[in-house]
Amino acid sequence: MALTIQQIACHRCDAALAVEVDVCPHCHARTKAEVSTADKWDWIHRRRTLLFVLLCATGALGLPALWLSRAFSLRAKIIWSIIVTVETALLVWVCYGSVATAIEACGPLFGQTV
Ligand SMILES: [Zn+2]
Repeated sequence: MALTIQQIACHRCDAALAVEVDVCPHCHARTKAEVSTADKWDWIHRRRTLLFVLLCATGALGLPALWLSRAFSLRAKIIWSIIVTVETALLVWVCYGSVATAIEACGPLFGQTV
């Protein structure tokens, strides 16, 4: 008795796979449904992209992505964590200084001294 099962093509090697299969037995790629969710976080495994995001957008808040990334060695993760943390601390310090200076400069306008 022949069973007919629904089949999909592997996105990597084009082998015919049963819909229920999670991983292609030929090339070990995940099936498309799982790839689409995995793709959303694929960028954390690209060195330049992740470093750009860390240094220009998230600062130290993005460090968990660095530690989840497969693109960096343990040593590189430690070094980049220190660099990103120092950069974030400097930015916070500069912002705090700017606001304090602005308040000091505007103090006389409002009849206050800080
Ligand atoms: Zn495959």
